[in-house]
Amino acid sequence: MPTTIVQANAYDVAMENFDTAADAIGLDSNSREMIKRPERMLTVGVPVRMDDGHIHRFEGFRVQHNSARGPAKGGIRFHPQVTLDEVKALATWMTWKCAVVNIPFGGAKGGITCDPKHMSQGELERMTRRYTSAILPLIGPEQDIPAPDVYTNSQTMAWIMDTYSMTKGYAVPGVVTGKPISLGGSLGRNEATGRGVFYTIESACEHLHMQLKGATVAVQGFGNAGSISAQLLHQAGAKIVAVSDSTGCVYNRDGLNIPELIHMKALCGHVDGFPESEPILPHELLAMACDILVPAALENTIVAENAGTVRARIIAEAANGPVTPAADRILESKGAFVIPDILCNAGGVTVSYFEWVQDEQHLFWEVQDIYNRLERVMKTAFSDVLKIHVERKVPMRIAANMLGIGRVAEAVQIRGIYP
Ligand code: NAD
Repeated sequence: MPTTIVQANAYDVAMENFDTAADAIGLDSNSREMIKRPERMLTVGVPVRMDDGHIHRFEGFRVQHNSARGPAKGGIRFHPQVTLDEVKALATWMTWKCAVVNIPFGGAKGGITCDPKHMSQGELERMTRRYTSAILPLIGPEQDIPAPDVYTNSQTMAWIMDTYSMTKGYAVPGVVTGKPISLGGSLGRNEATGRGVFYTIESACEHLHMQLKGATVAVQGFGNAGSISAQLLHQAGAKIVAVSDSTGCVYNRDGLNIPELIHMKALCGHVDGFPESEPILPHELLAMACDILVPAALENTIVAENAGTVRARIIAEAANGPVTPAADRILESKGAFVIPDILCNAGGVTVSYFEWVQDEQHLFWEVQDIYNRLERVMKTAFSDVLKIHVERKVPMRIAANMLGIGRVAEAVQIRGIYP
């Protein structure tokens, strides 16, 4: 059966998960009305002079879902399938995610519908700068702080920081996180999401009395989140037997050499054709007989149609929204242990928070200090969610949503309604 990425609407998924968790915590209808949907949504036209001289108008979005607990925070995605609904869903998940790890941020997300793989550096820079100027009224270190997401990186953040700073007349490093170190970026930010994924997998193994050393792992998506998770799991003695990216999937039953695969991906831009591996199909990766499956690509990759084929004991959601509610029910019935996205991949926003704190204080921390703080935050959040999972007998996703939504509702209730 081929893996078709069924076009479930991510925002519908986010709303369904909200309702389930809100019911479980008995959230009143006024609080639901206040926190369920986004506070602000901006759609912008982004005209760019392309290298051949013609002007192409891209569509861009910035959504602030909730800012009750602090400035809105969330990445910016450049991808052909970016839509307003996708950005709304991702912004919603950011709100609950920041609350699950208990950092003082709300949730936001941005994106541009574009195909960055077919754009030059110059085109990407002009598009990023024009988009930044279009969303300028919304962003700022006290308001809304973008970060990298799919197909954006530290260079993209540098362009945003520079464009914003030029309009202010002075350097404002705290307007974005995930910046280069030379502009006030934080040590440990680049690998923070993968490291956080790793810490939650360690905690899950401990809970399930599973050995991480020798465990077999399949990773879907070999970008920032996926490759760093794979690298840390590999270093801990796990065997990464399959890896995919948008160009193909590779398999080695004895374990892939992850440092070399990372090196090849950096050089060639794909995992396809990796020596000492055999090609497999995307649906074979999902159905792999392995202990741990790490979906680290995009939304809706595990859906009702293919969830029944998944055989992994632990599903660690490095990606946002990879499993639909219908697929969740199937995985649950098979006894899979899902580490939900808003917990599993929260390491990225946690170190983004550390970066913002360092920028605001103009005082920078040692990398080991960052790792120690990140581990503490991730393991505390994991045990907070696990406690709800065990005591209330609800799946981990609902438990995480109950925790995050409960914290945001509490903040909103205490603040009251203006005017
Ligand atoms: P990235 O651009 O670095 O990597 C994305 C990877 O996914 C690429 O290797 C790409 O080839 C691959 N991919 C795309 N479509 C695929 C498909 N159909 N099958 C298999 N692979 C596919 O992006 P990233 O930052 O690693 O983000 C990946 C996921 O992690 C997203 O859901 C993102 O929202 C989430 N996430 C990222 C961060 C972060 O800090 N980067 C934080 C939290 C969550």
